Amino acid sequence: MREKGLWQFSLWRLLKKLLKADNSFKSGRIIGSMCTSPHPLAERVFRRYLEKNVGDPGLFPATIALEAEAITALASLLGLKNATGYIVSGGTEANILALWAAKKASPPEKREVVLSEAAHFSFDKAASLLDLKLIKVPVKSDGSLNLKQAAQKIGPRTMALVGIAGTTPLGAVDPIPELSQLAEENNLFLHVDAAFGGFVIPFARQLGRQLPEFGFRLAGVKSICIDPHKMGMAVIPAGGILFRQRELAEAIRVPVPYLAGGESALPTIIGTRSGAAVIATWAMLKHLGESGYRAVVKRCLELTDYLAIQLKAIPGLALVTEPAINIVGLKSLRLPNTELAQRLRSLGWAISLFDTHLRIVVMPHLRLSHLKHLLADLRRCIVQPKVHF
Ligand code: PLP
Repeated sequence: MREKGLWQFSLWRLLKKLLKADNSFKSGRIIGSMCTSPHPLAERVFRRYLEKNVGDPGLFPATIALEAEAITALASLLGLKNATGYIVSGGTEANILALWAAKKASPPEKREVVLSEAAHFSFDKAASLLDLKLIKVPVKSDGSLNLKQAAQKIGPRTMALVGIAGTTPLGAVDPIPELSQLAEENNLFLHVDAAFGGFVIPFARQLGRQLPEFGFRLAGVKSICIDPHKMGMAVIPAGGILFRQRELAEAIRVPVPYLAGGESALPTIIGTRSGAAVIATWAMLKHLGESGYRAVVKRCLELTDYLAIQLKAIPGLALVTEPAINIVGLKSLRLPNTELAQRLRSLGWAISLFDTHLRIVVMPHLRLSHLKHLLADLRRCIVQPKVHF
């Protein structure tokens, strides 16, 4: 650190220079991320309430009340009148909290979790932290969990099942009604990871898309992760975790006697927690309402349909499966996928690469013009395999 600090003007100039290499959602070039530009209102609300810390609840009781309202709104979207939950740092923390609660609610001999091989890596972290064993089950050709194989993996050590509503690689939706039934029959905890799909599937269903139910209307579902900082148009950091029963959430609280706002029992993994993110999430839910979110989802799905049709028409490219939501998996029939990804990257496209395919996430920051540009570049990349980029 320097002895003498920088003037603000110089600092802003320096920051502008130093951050030049970062991508921006506004460029329309980020096509592989599950995040997006936050809604301008969320951004403004976030900036105004930066000092709020819900890790000291007694100091900020009004923010805590807004968190409860946000959770109630999310619960109603997910089919429950009252749930206990929190706005946390993201889907990773939400998934860890869910498995932690499941562990607390289970006898010590049950320490296995049955889930899809497409599950997000946050479950690997959760298993390592909580000393659990993940039993990974293959997926079907559409990327959703193979239910029959999942059922066969249930044994005396099984503690929980996880269903995914919008998988990371393909946006596939697991057969959650059937998982719920399995969970009930076998007295297992069922957690649903709807980190991405939670803000898409309910609205897609309202728009007439054929997608399975995944929420709390299914009696076996005990907890759900749903992230406002993905399709919820809120700011980072905003993940969501909801529990059907208060006791599940209570079991993972840790008492903290010394807080400035008075003794409390904190439910999340992190201590100091952004109240601004909580308020910005609340503001989004209030401002957009169901019709606002439905409009966002409608636009993303229409662009996804357009993209899928256009991609199928490009010789040398194929879709992995028909997109269930606004995530498209594609593969090259001419070049290795790694080569195609590299070419696209060299043209400035920030695309995701998985073992079996490339992934495009049609987020709200993408417009038709961006997709047309992408399709033109894809045609160049695939049709002229010998061109040097
Ligand atoms: N769950 C799913 C299905 C995801 O796709 C992701 C992230 O992509 C997560 C959980 C983790 O979310 P975060 O990156 O907010 O921790």
